[in-house]
Amino acid sequence: MNENLPPCPECSGVYTYEMGALLVCPECGHEWPAAGEAAAAEGDTGGAKVIKDAVGNVLSDGDTVTVVKTLKVKGSPTGIKAGTKVRNIRLVDGVDGHDIDCKVDGFGPMQLKSSVVKKV
Ligand SMILES: [Zn+2]
Repeated sequence: MNENLPPCPECSGVYTYEMGALLVCPECGHEWPAAGEAAAAEGDTGGAKVIKDAVGNVLSDGDTVTVVKTLKVKGSPTGIKAGTKVRNIRLVDGVDGHDIDCKVDGFGPMQLKSSVVKKV
């Protein structure tokens, strides 16, 4: 059994016990979801989140990729052309599916979607 249950957030009682998905404090009767633990468990698997490129290769930090289709870039007449090589990518939990943090030659730092690149 888990002997490392957190103390009660209400009264700091240490006699917390588990009741299903809830933690219960017998001293003040407070019940709360064991979210802390669930979050911690998710954190453990967070590192294992798999990000794949356009053809299904698993990407990892430091990979070099090429852009598979021309991408529009604000302020650039040409955009990023298909075939542009991007070195040393970093996988991030980006907004709107932009899960690659990288620096594109001639454009500077930006975020790309993994679906528009292919691992070299
Ligand atoms: Zn309590």
